[in-house]
Amino acid sequence: MIPSPLSLTELKALVRTVPDFPKPGIQFRDITTLIGDGAGLSSSIHHLAKIARAKGAQKIAGMEARGFIFGAAVAVQLGIGFVPVRKPGKLPIKTIGIDYTLEYGTDRLEIDPDAIADGERVVIVDDLIATGGTAIASAKLLRMAGALVEDAVFVIDLPDLGGTDRLHEEGVTVSTLIDFE
Ligand code: AMP
Repeated sequence: MIPSPLSLTELKALVRTVPDFPKPGIQFRDITTLIGDGAGLSSSIHHLAKIARAKGAQKIAGMEARGFIFGAAVAVQLGIGFVPVRKPGKLPIKTIGIDYTLEYGTDRLEIDPDAIADGERVVIVDDLIATGGTAIASAKLLRMAGALVEDAVFVIDLPDLGGTDRLHEEGVTVSTLIDFE
């Protein structure tokens, strides 16, 4: 536990905005600067873990790759297990997977089918919610493995892209620390 965590306003100031990455018109919200700062990293985890604890998390799931950074640290803070939601072909076992649509083309996520006990309450943790497509696919996949998924927690929300509402329609309540209009 850190003596005095940074405020959410202070956390927001540590996120670097990179214009026109990965393509023109996109304002990329880069958490490299946030996690590179000791107080920034530990305070982010403090705030995320507080929410996940209040939601009754029995396990945390995080999406490759930035969800691993925040998700695993939150799981440690709560003393519970972590489920990596992986890009295809990374796990050395028979996986279950889900294909989902991106702005251009499709992508796939995979998990260990035995990672979750039936009815276990899993809270999703990731760095950022934009359209919500990645988180919805993850929730569906975790549910296929038997998880109860009712909550997702993100450091950053991009509210203009509507991800929070989309997740809500899928029965997942979204909590976020900071937002960028
Ligand atoms: P989405 O599936 O649209 O909610 O996108 C979620 C993922 O895309 C997040 O895990 C982010 O890592 C990444 N992402 C999307 N838009 C941005 C952005 N403007 N800045 C940084 N990362 C982004």
